[in-house]
Amino acid sequence: MRRRWLLILVAGKNLSTLSDSDLRMVVLRATLALVGLSVGIGYIFIDHATGIQGNEPFYAVTIACSLITLLFNRAGYHKLASILFVSILNFIVFIFSAGDTYRSGVYIFFVVTSLTSFALFGYKDRTLALFFPIVSLALFLYSFWGEHSFIPKRPFTEEYLQINFTSNFIAAGVTSIAIVYFLINVNFQSEKKVIDKNEQLAKANAELDRFVYSASHDLRAPLSSILGLVNLYELSGNEAERETIINLIRERVNKMDNFINEILDYSRNARLSLRQENISSRELIHEIIEGLRYSKNFEKIRIDPGADDHVLCTDPERLKIVLNNLIANSLKYFDPDKTQSYIKIDVQKNKDMWSITVEDNGIGIPTELQGRIFEMFYRAHDRSEGSGLGLYIVKEVIARMHGSITVNSELNRGSKFTVTFPHPKPDPVS
Ligand code: ADP
Repeated sequence: MRRRWLLILVAGKNLSTLSDSDLRMVVLRATLALVGLSVGIGYIFIDHATGIQGNEPFYAVTIACSLITLLFNRAGYHKLASILFVSILNFIVFIFSAGDTYRSGVYIFFVVTSLTSFALFGYKDRTLALFFPIVSLALFLYSFWGEHSFIPKRPFTEEYLQINFTSNFIAAGVTSIAIVYFLINVNFQSEKKVIDKNEQLAKANAELDRFVYSASHDLRAPLSSILGLVNLYELSGNEAERETIINLIRERVNKMDNFINEILDYSRNARLSLRQENISSRELIHEIIEGLRYSKNFEKIRIDPGADDHVLCTDPERLKIVLNNLIANSLKYFDPDKTQSYIKIDVQKNKDMWSITVEDNGIGIPTELQGRIFEMFYRAHDRSEGSGLGLYIVKEVIARMHGSITVNSELNRGSKFTVTFPHPKPDPVS
């Protein structure tokens, strides 16, 4: 990323440790130091061309201090860099203000130095932010009213003075506007961040509400049913009937167990950071299929795990949650009317993305419902025995992996789910 390369150049490598507004300040400080550097070098040439002498040491100090500011800024000594830069800015404006006639208007740059102080120190270092404008004011008064014969006076023609005043006014005006723009931009960005965070929180709250409501309902249903079955068991004297009841109880307990596991997957995905590890696609798929061996319908379906083995660099836990849910769904929603039911898994490596497909010839999903199957607790078939959470979790997990999922399905023909996610890359800098 070009912008990232530039950022590292001016701000050093510890970008991720900086807050958004600190990063903006670092960039502003570097930009201003580069302007200081160019002004110092530029004036050496201007004075040389116009025959003015004696200011070279001041320019040398400006150049040196701008360079040190850049280095401090890069090394992370931000406060020190700001102190140095605002000091040298005050110093150079004072030298010109005291050396030139007041009619050149250089003193207007004291306004710029004061604004720069606010922009560079910010509210966090407000004592320094307020201290430097006081220094600017004092230097202005001294340059205007004081005695400073040690500074060489610059000779001006009337015409040069007019041009000088105009250019000083324009330069100071533009710089002031740029700094005020920077300040309102920082303010706007942090306000926007708060609004975005609030929207996210409101969405998370609404989801949590729905989740608690549906989850408690889904947990209570099998519990009530188990309680009823226990009563039946106590009343029944028939051994065969008692065994049927025990099997029904086991089924409901398994259902609750699956549901709780899904909730745990959801929570793990939200809590744990993304991992990157090399894994064999063949081994992962094999492990998932083995884990599903005792699921209903397993024996009736031919599973093709794909011929190729790829080394995937990804988050193994998360990918396992995704594939496990998709393959388990293909088993659940198989079509008993087909002569040979199948599930095909295929892993493909594209330019900078992995793509994994899980295809079945099961009962399929009606077109009008396909857009809703990734919603929380949504079930598209009456015969669904699950909670309706699986694909919602899959979508959330894939989003954490910076990937996406699509479905292609036809009623009574089958479904094909395609998961794509990128090869690993560093987290982008905002
Ligand atoms: P569930 O726990 O009900 O399986 P999911 O979130 O995993 O919930 O899936 C949502 C709905 O999408 C399911 O209820 C089912 O109707 C439909 N579905 C998911 N996968 C398939 C598939 N492979 N074939 C047919 N229907 C599917």
